[in-house]
Amino acid sequence: MRIDIISAVPDILNSPLNYSIIKRAKEKGLVEINIVNLHDYGKGNYKQIDDYSYGGDAGMVIMPEPLYRAITDLTSQRDYDYIIYTSPDGELLDQPMANTLSIAENIIILCGHYKGIDHRIREHLITKEISIGNYVLSGGELAAAVICDSIIRLIPGAITDEMSALSDSFQDGLLAPPIYTRPANFNGWEVPPVLLSGNTKLIREWQEQKALERTRELRPELLENLEG
Ligand code: SAH
Repeated sequence: MRIDIISAVPDILNSPLNYSIIKRAKEKGLVEINIVNLHDYGKGNYKQIDDYSYGGDAGMVIMPEPLYRAITDLTSQRDYDYIIYTSPDGELLDQPMANTLSIAENIIILCGHYKGIDHRIREHLITKEISIGNYVLSGGELAAAVICDSIIRLIPGAITDEMSALSDSFQDGLLAPPIYTRPANFNGWEVPPVLLSGNTKLIREWQEQKALERTRELRPELLENLEG
């Protein structure tokens, strides 16, 4: 998979995309992340990328020309499955969406900044708009990092024990059951005995029951979705 991220503040992305599972996925050649500095496509000597908004509202808007040039420079080189814009009014990112995106070959993620981007780019070039939650960030970079993390860890081989991604919360529509490691007794706090029993069938049953209980208690709306 190849992900091109277009950003006006590319340095924000250095750290979140260079550690742990994402770093290993890059090293294994499972994903290539290319960060495009929008200023490289800016206008004039000052590489201008933003301007005042029509209508007199406060705040700067990213201009269409630099966005158009950055996006078409990429699309002229290869086909993209998705040209994504990160936006608080987009479709909410969830696990099924991450699963769908994780099988794509090439993705562009465009990060907004200031007030956002000229709407004509959204109408004519963007094919998918994603929000990571009902709140407003200063820029799309952290949203892009969240989207990348959620999909890269799903690429087969990114996580060494593949079962590990499959047993995460939401993957089967439920929250994950509680997890424990050694020691079995810490400060007098005991690990549930069934987990020490060595009986795989009983352990699976216990985990399924706990997953259901936790979902019913913490996120009952997930069960409605499952039943509906
Ligand atoms: N004026 C816009 C918000 C701009 S915030 C509005 O009211 O909808 C600046 C940029 O941050 C946006 O262009 C977008 O790319 C990014 N952003 C902010 N909140 C986000 C969220 N919840 N999910 C994804 N991207 C977000």
